[in-house]
Amino acid sequence: MSDKKDLYRDNGQTGSVLDEMALDNKNLQNIGVEILPVHTGGKVHAKRMPGKFRSFKWITASFWIALFVFPYLRWDGHQALLFDLGNRQFHIFGLTILPQDIWMLAMVLLFFALLLAASTAVAGRLWCGYFCFHTVWTDVFTWIEEKFEGQPNKRTKLDSSKMSLEKLKIKLPKFALWAFIAFMTSFSFVAYFTDAFDLWARLFSLEWSSTETTVILVLAAATFFFAGILREQTCIGFCPYARIQGAMIDTQTVVPTYDVDRGEPRGRMKRVKPGEEAPDLGDCIDCNLCVAVCPTGVDIRHGQQFGCITCGLCIDACDSVMDKIKKPRGLIRYASLAEFAGQKLPPLFKRPRVIVYTAIMSFAAIVMVYGLLTMSPIDLKALHERSPLFVQMSDGSIQNKWTIKVVNKSNEVMLAKISVEGPEGLTFIADKEITVPPGNVGATTLLVKIPKKNLVETNTPITILVNDVNNPTIKATYTTSFISPKKR
Ligand code: SF4
Ligand code: SF4
Repeated sequence: MSDKKDLYRDNGQTGSVLDEMALDNKNLQNIGVEILPVHTGGKVHAKRMPGKFRSFKWITASFWIALFVFPYLRWDGHQALLFDLGNRQFHIFGLTILPQDIWMLAMVLLFFALLLAASTAVAGRLWCGYFCFHTVWTDVFTWIEEKFEGQPNKRTKLDSSKMSLEKLKIKLPKFALWAFIAFMTSFSFVAYFTDAFDLWARLFSLEWSSTETTVILVLAAATFFFAGILREQTCIGFCPYARIQGAMIDTQTVVPTYDVDRGEPRGRMKRVKPGEEAPDLGDCIDCNLCVAVCPTGVDIRHGQQFGCITCGLCIDACDSVMDKIKKPRGLIRYASLAEFAGQKLPPLFKRPRVIVYTAIMSFAAIVMVYGLLTMSPIDLKALHERSPLFVQMSDGSIQNKWTIKVVNKSNEVMLAKISVEGPEGLTFIADKEITVPPGNVGATTLLVKIPKKNLVETNTPITILVNDVNNPTIKATYTTSFISPKKR
Protein backbone atom coordinates (compact mmCIF):
# COMPACT_ATOMS: atom_id res chain seq x y z
CA MET A 1 0.00 0.00 0.00
CA SER A 2 1.39 3.39 -0.89
CA ASP A 3 1.94 6.19 1.58
CA LYS A 4 -1.30 7.08 3.32
CA LYS A 5 -0.43 10.76 3.15
CA ASP A 6 -0.82 10.55 -0.62
CA LEU A 7 -4.33 9.32 -0.34
CA TYR A 8 -7.46 11.32 -0.21
CA ARG A 9 -9.37 11.13 3.09
CA ASP A 10 -13.00 12.05 2.95
CA ASN A 11 -14.23 14.81 5.20
CA GLY A 12 -11.94 13.81 8.01
CA GLN A 13 -13.75 10.53 8.69
CA THR A 14 -11.48 7.97 10.17
CA GLY A 15 -11.59 4.21 10.29
CA SER A 16 -12.92 3.94 6.78
CA VAL A 17 -11.43 2.01 3.95
CA LEU A 18 -10.19 5.35 2.68
CA ASP A 19 -7.43 5.14 5.24
CA GLU A 20 -6.05 2.24 3.32
CA MET A 21 -6.74 2.75 -0.34
CA ALA A 22 -7.82 5.30 -2.84
CA LEU A 23 -11.28 4.59 -4.13
CA ASP A 24 -10.45 5.09 -7.78
CA ASN A 25 -12.22 2.95 -10.36
CA LYS A 26 -9.65 0.18 -10.18
CA ASN A 27 -9.69 -0.12 -6.39
CA LEU A 28 -13.47 0.08 -6.30
CA GLN A 29 -13.62 -2.91 -8.61
CA ASN A 30 -11.16 -4.72 -6.35
CA ILE A 31 -13.55 -4.37 -3.41
CA GLY A 32 -16.51 -5.43 -5.57
CA VAL A 33 -18.07 -2.06 -6.38
CA GLU A 34 -19.08 -1.76 -10.02
CA ILE A 35 -19.05 1.61 -11.69
CA LEU A 36 -22.07 1.57 -13.91
CA PRO A 37 -23.12 3.81 -16.77
CA VAL A 38 -26.04 6.15 -16.11
CA HIS A 39 -29.29 5.21 -17.78
CA THR A 40 -29.66 7.55 -20.74
CA GLY A 41 -33.18 6.79 -21.91
CA GLY A 42 -34.60 3.87 -23.85
CA LYS A 43 -35.75 0.61 -22.30
CA VAL A 44 -34.79 0.22 -18.65
CA HIS A 45 -32.91 -3.02 -17.96
CA ALA A 46 -32.56 -2.88 -14.21
CA LYS A 47 -29.85 -4.79 -12.43
CA ARG A 48 -30.99 -7.26 -9.77
CA MET A 49 -29.22 -7.63 -6.48
CA PRO A 50 -30.07 -9.12 -3.11
CA GLY A 51 -31.10 -7.02 -0.16
CA LYS A 52 -33.81 -6.62 2.42
CA PHE A 53 -36.13 -4.62 0.17
CA ARG A 54 -35.59 -7.11 -2.66
CA SER A 55 -36.64 -9.93 -0.30
CA PHE A 56 -39.59 -7.91 0.96
CA LYS A 57 -40.70 -7.35 -2.65
CA TRP A 58 -40.72 -11.12 -3.27
CA ILE A 59 -42.72 -11.72 -0.09
CA THR A 60 -45.37 -9.14 -0.99
CA ALA A 61 -45.43 -10.35 -4.62
CA SER A 62 -46.14 -13.88 -3.41
CA PHE A 63 -49.55 -12.69 -2.10
CA TRP A 64 -50.62 -12.68 -5.75
CA ILE A 65 -50.27 -16.48 -5.88
CA ALA A 66 -53.72 -16.38 -4.26
CA LEU A 67 -55.14 -15.07 -7.55
CA PHE A 68 -54.22 -18.37 -9.23
CA VAL A 69 -55.25 -20.63 -6.33
CA PHE A 70 -58.53 -19.23 -4.98
CA PRO A 71 -60.79 -20.20 -7.93
CA TYR A 72 -60.11 -23.88 -7.14
CA LEU A 73 -61.05 -23.68 -3.44
CA ARG A 74 -64.40 -25.30 -2.60
CA TRP A 75 -66.82 -24.49 0.22
CA ASP A 76 -69.84 -26.71 0.92
CA GLY A 77 -69.31 -28.29 -2.50
CA HIS A 78 -69.38 -24.92 -4.30
CA GLN A 79 -66.65 -22.61 -5.55
CA ALA A 80 -65.59 -20.66 -2.45
CA LEU A 81 -65.18 -17.37 -4.33
CA LEU A 82 -67.58 -16.93 -7.21
CA PHE A 83 -68.89 -13.67 -8.64
CA ASP A 84 -71.90 -15.03 -10.48
CA LEU A 85 -72.87 -11.99 -12.54
CA GLY A 86 -75.51 -13.91 -14.55
CA ASN A 87 -77.50 -14.72 -11.40
CA ARG A 88 -76.43 -11.48 -9.69
CA GLN A 89 -74.91 -13.28 -6.70
CA PHE A 90 -71.49 -13.10 -5.04
CA HIS A 91 -70.50 -16.26 -3.18
CA ILE A 92 -67.76 -15.65 -0.63
CA PHE A 93 -66.88 -18.68 1.49
CA GLY A 94 -70.45 -19.82 2.06
CA LEU A 95 -71.84 -16.32 2.24
CA THR A 96 -74.10 -15.25 -0.63
CA ILE A 97 -74.21 -11.53 -1.27
CA LEU A 98 -77.12 -10.40 -3.40
CA PRO A 99 -77.59 -7.01 -5.09
CA GLN A 100 -79.46 -5.63 -2.05
CA ASP A 101 -76.34 -6.21 0.11
CA ILE A 102 -74.06 -4.46 -2.35
CA TRP A 103 -73.64 -1.57 0.11
CA MET A 104 -71.21 -3.89 1.93
CA LEU A 105 -69.05 -3.99 -1.18
CA ALA A 106 -69.07 -0.19 -1.13
CA MET A 107 -67.76 -0.35 2.45
CA VAL A 108 -65.03 -2.79 1.40
CA LEU A 109 -63.98 -0.43 -1.41
CA LEU A 110 -64.06 2.56 0.95
CA PHE A 111 -61.91 0.66 3.46
CA PHE A 112 -59.25 -0.25 0.91
CA ALA A 113 -59.26 3.20 -0.71
CA LEU A 114 -58.60 4.74 2.70
CA LEU A 115 -56.00 2.09 3.53
CA LEU A 116 -54.22 3.09 0.33
CA ALA A 117 -54.42 6.79 1.26
CA ALA A 118 -53.28 6.17 4.84
CA SER A 119 -50.33 3.98 3.83
CA THR A 120 -49.29 6.54 1.20
CA ALA A 121 -49.44 9.33 3.77
CA VAL A 122 -47.20 7.35 6.12
CA ALA A 123 -44.71 5.70 3.75
CA GLY A 124 -45.30 6.84 0.17
CA ARG A 125 -46.28 4.57 -2.68
CA LEU A 126 -46.15 1.30 -0.76
CA TRP A 127 -48.81 -0.11 -3.05
CA CYS A 128 -46.79 0.75 -6.18
CA GLY A 129 -43.49 -0.50 -4.86
CA TYR A 130 -44.55 -3.81 -3.33
CA PHE A 131 -48.13 -4.86 -4.06
CA CYS A 132 -49.34 -3.41 -7.38
CA PHE A 133 -50.14 -6.16 -9.89
CA HIS A 134 -48.36 -4.24 -12.65
CA THR A 135 -45.16 -3.86 -10.61
CA VAL A 136 -45.27 -7.49 -9.53
CA TRP A 137 -45.93 -8.89 -13.01
CA THR A 138 -43.21 -6.64 -14.50
CA ASP A 139 -40.81 -7.84 -11.83
CA VAL A 140 -41.55 -11.49 -12.67
CA PHE A 141 -41.34 -10.86 -16.44
CA THR A 142 -37.96 -9.10 -16.15
CA TRP A 143 -36.70 -11.87 -13.85
CA ILE A 144 -37.57 -14.37 -16.59
CA GLU A 145 -35.91 -12.11 -19.14
CA GLU A 146 -32.72 -12.11 -17.09
CA LYS A 147 -32.75 -15.92 -16.97
CA PHE A 148 -32.93 -16.13 -20.78
CA GLU A 149 -30.98 -13.06 -21.86
CA GLY A 150 -28.52 -12.36 -19.06
CA GLN A 151 -27.43 -9.21 -17.26
CA PRO A 152 -28.63 -5.71 -18.29
CA ASN A 153 -25.61 -4.91 -20.52
CA LYS A 154 -26.14 -8.16 -22.45
CA ARG A 155 -29.86 -7.45 -22.80
CA THR A 156 -29.23 -3.94 -24.07
CA LYS A 157 -26.78 -5.31 -26.63
CA LEU A 158 -29.21 -8.03 -27.69
CA ASP A 159 -32.03 -5.50 -28.08
CA SER A 160 -29.93 -3.28 -30.33
CA SER A 161 -28.57 -6.17 -32.41
CA LYS A 162 -30.08 -7.04 -35.81
CA MET A 163 -32.72 -9.74 -36.03
CA SER A 164 -31.10 -13.14 -36.52
CA LEU A 165 -31.80 -16.79 -35.86
CA GLU A 166 -29.61 -16.61 -32.75
CA LYS A 167 -31.57 -13.65 -31.42
CA LEU A 168 -34.87 -15.41 -32.09
CA LYS A 169 -33.63 -18.51 -30.31
CA ILE A 170 -33.04 -16.44 -27.18
CA LYS A 171 -36.16 -14.28 -27.44
CA LEU A 172 -38.82 -16.82 -28.39
CA PRO A 173 -38.68 -19.05 -25.27
CA LYS A 174 -38.92 -15.90 -23.15
CA PHE A 175 -41.95 -14.68 -25.10
CA ALA A 176 -43.53 -18.14 -24.82
CA LEU A 177 -43.16 -18.14 -21.03
CA TRP A 178 -44.50 -14.58 -20.81
CA ALA A 179 -47.48 -15.60 -22.95
CA PHE A 180 -48.16 -18.58 -20.68
CA ILE A 181 -48.13 -16.39 -17.55
CA ALA A 182 -50.32 -13.80 -19.30
CA PHE A 183 -52.80 -16.52 -20.28
CA MET A 184 -52.88 -18.00 -16.76
CA THR A 185 -53.46 -14.51 -15.36
CA SER A 186 -56.45 -13.77 -17.58
CA PHE A 187 -57.81 -17.30 -17.22
CA SER A 188 -57.61 -17.08 -13.41
CA PHE A 189 -59.38 -13.73 -13.49
CA VAL A 190 -62.28 -15.11 -15.54
CA ALA A 191 -62.41 -18.21 -13.28
CA TYR A 192 -63.76 -15.96 -10.50
CA PHE A 193 -66.87 -15.37 -12.61
CA THR A 194 -67.65 -18.93 -13.64
CA ASP A 195 -66.82 -22.39 -12.31
CA ALA A 196 -63.03 -22.75 -12.65
CA PHE A 197 -62.98 -26.51 -13.35
CA ASP A 198 -65.81 -26.14 -15.85
CA LEU A 199 -63.88 -23.35 -17.59
CA TRP A 200 -60.90 -25.72 -18.03
CA ALA A 201 -63.19 -28.48 -19.31
CA ARG A 202 -64.82 -26.12 -21.80
CA LEU A 203 -61.40 -24.93 -22.99
CA PHE A 204 -60.54 -28.44 -24.16
CA SER A 205 -63.94 -28.97 -25.76
CA LEU A 206 -63.75 -25.47 -27.33
CA GLU A 207 -67.00 -24.38 -25.71
CA TRP A 208 -66.07 -21.02 -24.24
CA SER A 209 -68.67 -18.31 -24.76
CA SER A 210 -67.69 -15.35 -26.94
CA THR A 211 -67.52 -13.15 -23.81
CA GLU A 212 -65.15 -15.56 -22.04
CA THR A 213 -62.97 -15.89 -25.12
CA THR A 214 -62.80 -12.13 -25.67
CA VAL A 215 -62.06 -11.27 -22.03
CA ILE A 216 -59.37 -13.95 -21.70
CA LEU A 217 -57.62 -13.04 -24.95
CA VAL A 218 -57.78 -9.26 -24.42
CA LEU A 219 -56.62 -9.50 -20.80
CA ALA A 220 -53.79 -11.89 -21.71
CA ALA A 221 -52.64 -9.57 -24.50
CA ALA A 222 -52.80 -6.58 -22.13
CA THR A 223 -50.78 -8.44 -19.46
CA PHE A 224 -48.14 -9.41 -22.01
CA PHE A 225 -47.95 -5.90 -23.41
CA PHE A 226 -48.00 -3.88 -20.19
CA ALA A 227 -45.79 -6.14 -18.03
CA GLY A 228 -43.44 -7.38 -20.75
CA ILE A 229 -43.14 -4.58 -23.27
CA LEU A 230 -44.28 -1.30 -21.72
CA ARG A 231 -43.04 -2.01 -18.15
CA GLU A 232 -42.06 1.16 -16.25
CA GLN A 233 -43.69 3.36 -18.92
CA THR A 234 -47.07 2.15 -17.59
CA CYS A 235 -46.27 3.68 -14.18
CA ILE A 236 -44.87 6.84 -15.71
CA GLY A 237 -47.31 7.43 -18.55
CA PHE A 238 -50.58 5.66 -17.80
CA CYS A 239 -51.17 5.03 -14.12
CA PRO A 240 -53.61 7.56 -12.63
CA TYR A 241 -52.57 6.69 -9.08
CA ALA A 242 -49.03 7.92 -9.77
CA ARG A 243 -50.53 11.28 -10.60
CA ILE A 244 -52.62 11.71 -7.45
CA GLN A 245 -49.99 10.52 -5.00
CA GLY A 246 -48.61 14.07 -4.68
CA ALA A 247 -51.82 15.04 -2.91
CA MET A 248 -51.43 12.18 -0.45
CA ILE A 249 -47.90 12.72 0.80
CA ASP A 250 -46.54 15.53 2.91
CA THR A 251 -43.28 16.54 4.57
CA GLN A 252 -43.79 13.86 7.23
CA THR A 253 -44.14 11.00 4.75
CA VAL A 254 -41.15 8.69 4.76
CA VAL A 255 -39.96 7.73 1.27
CA PRO A 256 -36.63 6.50 -0.12
CA THR A 257 -34.49 9.63 -0.02
CA TYR A 258 -30.89 10.41 -0.81
CA ASP A 259 -29.10 12.21 2.02
CA VAL A 260 -27.71 15.15 0.05
CA ASP A 261 -25.79 16.62 2.99
CA ARG A 262 -23.95 13.38 3.54
CA GLY A 263 -23.50 12.33 -0.08
CA GLU A 264 -22.52 15.56 -1.82
CA PRO A 265 -20.33 16.62 -3.43
CA ARG A 266 -20.21 13.15 -4.90
CA GLY A 267 -17.21 11.76 -6.68
CA ARG A 268 -14.71 8.97 -6.86
CA MET A 269 -11.53 9.17 -4.91
CA LYS A 270 -8.28 9.63 -6.62
CA ARG A 271 -4.68 9.82 -5.60
CA VAL A 272 -3.62 13.34 -4.92
CA LYS A 273 -0.24 14.39 -6.16
CA PRO A 274 2.15 15.97 -3.69
CA GLY A 275 1.16 19.59 -3.18
CA GLU A 276 -2.38 19.03 -4.49
CA GLU A 277 -5.31 19.65 -2.19
CA ALA A 278 -7.60 16.70 -1.65
CA PRO A 279 -11.16 17.36 -2.90
CA ASP A 280 -13.76 17.68 -0.19
CA LEU A 281 -16.10 14.87 -1.27
CA GLY A 282 -19.21 13.39 0.32
CA ASP A 283 -19.99 9.70 0.82
CA CYS A 284 -21.50 9.11 -2.63
CA ILE A 285 -18.80 7.59 -4.80
CA ASP A 286 -20.92 8.12 -7.91
CA CYS A 287 -20.98 4.43 -8.78
CA ASN A 288 -24.53 4.75 -10.21
CA LEU A 289 -25.55 1.42 -8.74
CA CYS A 290 -28.66 3.04 -7.23
CA VAL A 291 -29.72 4.12 -10.72
CA ALA A 292 -28.82 0.78 -12.31
CA VAL A 293 -31.11 -1.19 -9.99
CA CYS A 294 -34.05 1.19 -10.30
CA PRO A 295 -36.90 -0.49 -12.21
CA THR A 296 -38.12 2.88 -13.47
CA GLY A 297 -34.69 4.31 -14.31
CA VAL A 298 -34.88 7.07 -11.68
CA ASP A 299 -31.78 8.70 -10.20
CA ILE A 300 -32.92 9.19 -6.62
CA ARG A 301 -30.03 11.58 -6.03
CA HIS A 302 -32.03 14.21 -7.93
CA GLY A 303 -34.71 14.12 -5.23
CA GLN A 304 -38.18 12.59 -5.05
CA GLN A 305 -39.55 12.12 -8.52
CA PHE A 306 -42.73 11.22 -10.27
CA GLY A 307 -41.24 7.95 -11.60
CA CYS A 308 -40.17 6.68 -8.17
CA ILE A 309 -42.42 3.86 -7.03
CA THR A 310 -40.70 3.76 -3.61
CA CYS A 311 -39.59 0.14 -3.98
CA GLY A 312 -36.44 0.65 -1.89
CA LEU A 313 -34.18 -1.25 -4.30
CA CYS A 314 -31.83 1.74 -4.51
CA ILE A 315 -31.52 1.53 -0.71
CA ASP A 316 -30.35 -2.09 -0.98
CA ALA A 317 -27.90 -1.09 -3.71
CA CYS A 318 -26.41 1.85 -1.89
CA ASP A 319 -26.20 -0.02 1.43
CA SER A 320 -24.19 -2.74 -0.31
CA VAL A 321 -21.78 -0.10 -1.61
CA MET A 322 -21.51 1.53 1.82
CA ASP A 323 -20.72 -1.87 3.34
CA LYS A 324 -17.92 -2.37 0.83
CA ILE A 325 -16.35 1.02 1.38
CA LYS A 326 -16.94 0.64 5.13
CA LYS A 327 -19.21 3.63 5.58
CA PRO A 328 -22.43 3.66 7.55
CA ARG A 329 -25.49 2.44 5.69
CA GLY A 330 -28.37 4.81 4.98
CA LEU A 331 -26.96 7.26 2.45
CA ILE A 332 -30.22 6.44 0.71
CA ARG A 333 -32.90 5.57 3.25
CA TYR A 334 -36.56 5.81 4.07
CA ALA A 335 -36.76 9.33 5.50
CA SER A 336 -39.05 12.36 5.49
CA LEU A 337 -38.36 15.93 4.45
CA ALA A 338 -39.19 16.96 8.02
CA GLU A 339 -36.40 14.70 9.29
CA PHE A 340 -33.90 16.30 6.90
CA ALA A 341 -35.04 19.73 8.10
CA GLY A 342 -34.10 18.63 11.62
CA GLN A 343 -37.69 18.26 12.84
CA LYS A 344 -38.85 15.37 14.96
CA LEU A 345 -41.52 13.19 13.38
CA PRO A 346 -44.70 13.21 15.48
CA PRO A 347 -46.07 9.77 16.34
CA LEU A 348 -48.60 8.37 13.85
CA PHE A 349 -51.59 8.95 16.13
CA LYS A 350 -50.80 12.68 16.25
CA ARG A 351 -50.76 13.21 12.48
CA PRO A 352 -54.03 14.78 11.22
CA ARG A 353 -54.05 12.89 7.90
CA VAL A 354 -53.48 9.56 9.56
CA ILE A 355 -56.17 10.31 12.16
CA VAL A 356 -58.77 11.26 9.51
CA TYR A 357 -57.97 8.30 7.23
CA THR A 358 -57.97 5.85 10.14
CA ALA A 359 -61.28 7.22 11.45
CA ILE A 360 -63.00 6.71 8.06
CA MET A 361 -61.38 3.28 7.68
CA SER A 362 -62.59 2.26 11.13
CA PHE A 363 -66.11 3.46 10.28
CA ALA A 364 -66.11 1.38 7.07
CA ALA A 365 -64.70 -1.65 8.92
CA ILE A 366 -67.31 -1.41 11.73
CA VAL A 367 -70.18 -1.06 9.24
CA MET A 368 -68.79 -4.02 7.26
CA VAL A 369 -68.49 -6.25 10.32
CA TYR A 370 -71.95 -5.18 11.53
CA GLY A 371 -73.37 -6.01 8.09
CA LEU A 372 -71.74 -9.44 8.07
CA LEU A 373 -72.78 -10.28 11.64
CA THR A 374 -76.38 -9.23 11.15
CA MET A 375 -76.80 -10.61 7.65
CA SER A 376 -79.58 -13.18 7.70
CA PRO A 377 -79.74 -16.03 5.17
CA ILE A 378 -83.33 -14.97 4.53
CA ASP A 379 -84.75 -11.61 3.48
CA LEU A 380 -88.34 -10.49 3.07
CA LYS A 381 -89.88 -7.73 0.98
CA ALA A 382 -93.63 -6.95 0.80
CA LEU A 383 -95.13 -4.76 -1.94
CA HIS A 384 -98.60 -3.41 -1.13
CA GLU A 385 -101.18 -3.51 -3.92
CA ARG A 386 -101.79 0.09 -5.00
CA SER A 387 -104.97 -0.28 -6.96
CA PRO A 388 -107.15 -0.81 -5.07
CA LEU A 389 -105.53 -0.09 -1.70
CA PHE A 390 -108.23 -2.11 0.09
CA VAL A 391 -111.39 -4.08 -0.68
CA GLN A 392 -114.52 -4.12 1.47
CA MET A 393 -115.73 -7.72 1.72
CA SER A 394 -119.37 -8.83 1.87
CA ASP A 395 -118.93 -9.86 5.55
CA GLY A 396 -117.92 -6.29 6.40
CA SER A 397 -114.23 -7.00 6.82
CA ILE A 398 -111.46 -5.13 4.96
CA GLN A 399 -108.92 -6.93 2.77
CA ASN A 400 -105.44 -5.78 1.65
CA LYS A 401 -103.18 -7.50 -0.83
CA TRP A 402 -99.37 -7.78 -0.96
CA THR A 403 -96.82 -9.36 -3.28
CA ILE A 404 -94.35 -11.13 -1.02
CA LYS A 405 -90.76 -11.73 -2.07
CA VAL A 406 -88.58 -14.10 -0.06
CA VAL A 407 -84.84 -13.97 -0.75
CA ASN A 408 -82.86 -17.13 0.00
CA LYS A 409 -79.22 -16.10 0.57
CA SER A 410 -78.12 -19.57 1.67
CA ASN A 411 -76.60 -22.30 -0.46
CA GLU A 412 -79.53 -24.72 0.24
CA VAL A 413 -83.07 -24.91 -1.12
CA MET A 414 -85.35 -23.18 1.40
CA LEU A 415 -88.98 -23.97 2.30
CA ALA A 416 -90.35 -20.63 3.48
CA LYS A 417 -93.55 -20.26 5.52
CA ILE A 418 -95.47 -16.98 5.74
CA SER A 419 -97.43 -15.81 8.78
CA VAL A 420 -98.98 -12.48 9.77
CA GLU A 421 -99.49 -10.77 13.15
CA GLY A 422 -101.83 -7.86 13.76
CA PRO A 423 -105.16 -6.81 15.35
CA GLU A 424 -107.63 -9.34 16.71
CA GLY A 425 -109.60 -11.23 14.11
CA LEU A 426 -106.85 -10.98 11.47
CA THR A 427 -106.89 -13.82 8.92
CA PHE A 428 -104.68 -14.31 5.90
CA ILE A 429 -104.37 -16.41 2.77
CA ALA A 430 -100.98 -17.24 1.25
CA ASP A 431 -99.18 -20.24 -0.25
CA LYS A 432 -98.61 -22.72 2.55
CA GLU A 433 -94.92 -23.00 1.77
CA ILE A 434 -92.77 -21.36 -0.87
CA THR A 435 -89.83 -23.28 -2.31
CA VAL A 436 -86.93 -20.89 -2.90
CA PRO A 437 -83.81 -22.17 -4.69
CA PRO A 438 -80.40 -21.13 -3.21
CA GLY A 439 -79.48 -17.53 -3.95
CA ASN A 440 -82.86 -16.91 -5.47
CA VAL A 441 -86.11 -15.05 -4.86
CA GLY A 442 -89.47 -16.73 -4.31
CA ALA A 443 -92.70 -14.75 -4.75
CA THR A 444 -96.28 -15.26 -3.58
CA THR A 445 -99.47 -13.26 -3.06
CA LEU A 446 -100.67 -12.51 0.45
CA LEU A 447 -104.27 -11.56 1.25
CA VAL A 448 -104.98 -10.21 4.76
CA LYS A 449 -108.48 -9.67 6.14
CA ILE A 450 -109.36 -7.77 9.35
CA PRO A 451 -112.91 -7.20 10.71
CA LYS A 452 -113.79 -3.49 10.27
CA LYS A 453 -114.78 -3.13 13.91
CA ASN A 454 -111.21 -3.99 14.97
CA LEU A 455 -109.66 -1.24 12.82
CA VAL A 456 -109.41 2.03 14.74
CA GLU A 457 -107.16 3.89 12.30
CA THR A 458 -106.81 4.11 8.50
CA ASN A 459 -103.22 2.79 8.76
CA THR A 460 -102.94 -0.16 11.11
CA PRO A 461 -99.45 -1.66 11.58
CA ILE A 462 -99.21 -5.39 10.91
CA THR A 463 -96.13 -7.65 10.85
CA ILE A 464 -95.44 -10.19 8.12
CA LEU A 465 -93.13 -13.03 9.17
CA VAL A 466 -91.30 -15.62 7.16
CA ASN A 467 -89.27 -18.51 8.46
CA ASP A 468 -87.42 -21.51 7.11
CA VAL A 469 -89.59 -24.59 7.75
CA ASN A 470 -86.49 -26.77 8.20
CA ASN A 471 -84.72 -24.31 10.46
CA PRO A 472 -87.20 -22.01 12.25
CA THR A 473 -84.37 -19.92 13.73
CA ILE A 474 -83.83 -18.54 10.21
CA LYS A 475 -86.51 -15.90 9.95
CA ALA A 476 -87.26 -12.37 8.81
CA THR A 477 -90.00 -9.87 9.59
CA TYR A 478 -91.49 -6.95 7.69
CA THR A 479 -93.70 -4.33 9.31
CA THR A 480 -96.19 -2.64 7.02
CA SER A 481 -99.52 -0.75 7.14
CA PHE A 482 -102.91 -2.31 6.67
CA ILE A 483 -105.03 0.33 4.93
CA SER A 484 -108.72 0.75 5.63
CA PRO A 485 -111.38 3.37 4.69
CA LYS A 486 -111.90 6.47 6.87
CA LYS A 487 -114.51 6.07 9.55
CA ARG A 488 -117.51 8.41 9.20
S1 SF4 B 1 -35.61 5.55 -7.07
FE1 SF4 B 1 -35.26 3.86 -5.65
S2 SF4 B 1 -37.20 3.61 -4.57
FE2 SF4 B 1 -37.59 4.89 -6.37
S3 SF4 B 1 -38.28 3.42 -7.91
FE3 SF4 B 1 -36.08 3.69 -8.18
S4 SF4 B 1 -35.17 2.05 -6.96
FE4 SF4 B 1 -37.28 2.22 -6.32
S1 SF4 C 1 -25.96 7.01 -3.82
FE1 SF4 C 1 -24.90 5.11 -3.28
S2 SF4 C 1 -25.38 3.67 -4.90
FE2 SF4 C 1 -25.92 5.70 -5.64
S3 SF4 C 1 -24.13 6.41 -6.74
FE3 SF4 C 1 -23.90 7.17 -4.68
S4 SF4 C 1 -22.76 5.60 -3.62
FE4 SF4 C 1 -23.47 4.66 -5.52
